[in-house]
Amino acid sequence: MQVSSKLPHVGTTIFSVMSALAQEHGAINLSQGFPNFPSSEKLTNLVCHYLKAGYNQYAPMPGLSGLREQIARKAQVMYGLEVDPAEEVTVTAGATQAIYCAIAAFVHPGDEVIILEPAYDCYRPAVEVNGGKPVVYEMQPPDYKVDWNAVQSLVTPATRMIIINTPHNPTGSILQASDMLALQQLTTGTDILVLSDEVYEHLIYDGQEHQSVLRFPGLRERSLATYSFGKTFHNTGWKIGYCIAPPELMKEFRKVHQYNTFAVHRPTQHALADYLKDASTYQSLPAFYQQKRDLLLSELKDSRLRPLPCSGTYFCNFDYSAISDKPDAEFTRWLIEEHGLAAIPVSAFYESGKDERVIRLCFAKTEETLREAGKALRGVVSHSGSDS
Ligand code: PMP
Ligand code: GLN
Repeated sequence: MQVSSKLPHVGTTIFSVMSALAQEHGAINLSQGFPNFPSSEKLTNLVCHYLKAGYNQYAPMPGLSGLREQIARKAQVMYGLEVDPAEEVTVTAGATQAIYCAIAAFVHPGDEVIILEPAYDCYRPAVEVNGGKPVVYEMQPPDYKVDWNAVQSLVTPATRMIIINTPHNPTGSILQASDMLALQQLTTGTDILVLSDEVYEHLIYDGQEHQSVLRFPGLRERSLATYSFGKTFHNTGWKIGYCIAPPELMKEFRKVHQYNTFAVHRPTQHALADYLKDASTYQSLPAFYQQKRDLLLSELKDSRLRPLPCSGTYFCNFDYSAISDKPDAEFTRWLIEEHGLAAIPVSAFYESGKDERVIRLCFAKTEETLREAGKALRGVVSHSGSDS
């Protein structure tokens, strides 16, 4: 039998590859983005409670109404937004499924989708499997600012969607209000949709504000915004997220969602609905993670890794060109094998494999792990081996 792949260039994600290598070598794992500390005991107990209390049959297709109400309330608390829980919110199996549904619902074969690279790796395959054509705009280090005139020049009559991600994985950069206004201007009077991946909305530092696409009326009407409780409440393995979009877009989104998964884990939805009533559960996150970012930076202050700016997410990028001129894939493999530390090569976030000699480190880790990582990385002096 001949299998004709719809995604012939897709292999195993870099996150699985690096985490497997870290495990094989017993390395400190700052590669794949996940916390190595537990989710709140209160939240975990709530999930157990609802499991045992028998809330174990299908949830309503768009998500439990109680959870959707709390999601709408969170948008009000955070951004002063009016969101209709009945028609504008759908609970999904993580942000990944929300992103997939948004793309599958609107991208027709031959449609172009603008992706800003470096980019999180689930966008492109979702576009391609639906017959769309990714069109790439490359942001430039060290600050990865977007030149919206250059993005504008990529727009054609076939442009169906622009995907943005703020705070941004892997670079830790954020979009400012001026970026959102430029995007608003660029899309006004067009049929271009915006898919705004905002899974790190609460992981934003130095007193900066998250500029959600939902805060800009001209963008709100054409945007689908996606979120992840896994990021917000330190339980990436639970895979619960959601999408917010205006009713006419949400109607189409749900057509895909209801046949793609129908509904997601019910006991967890009940638990999240209760837990979200206390806004401090998410309002405390910037301070919590900023401390971790600063600990990693101070641990690496005397290393030969040069930090790139990090305004958000739980990732910080480092230029390693003072240590090695080897490609980042080779450098990260060597780091695991020789120094017991796993990082992500940032070239994995470029379709072209563009290599800027930059690695991504995840700081969603305990203080102990961050200190161990600091010690390991301060010992990395040169690639030739005089360093161990
Ligand atoms: N978007 C970005 C930018 C991410 O980093 C991730 C996380 N891993 C996701 C989407 C997917 O989130 P989830 O685990 O909720 O599917
Ligand atoms: N978002 C996580 C990261 O960037 C990984 C998610 C995954 O492993 N699919 O590291």
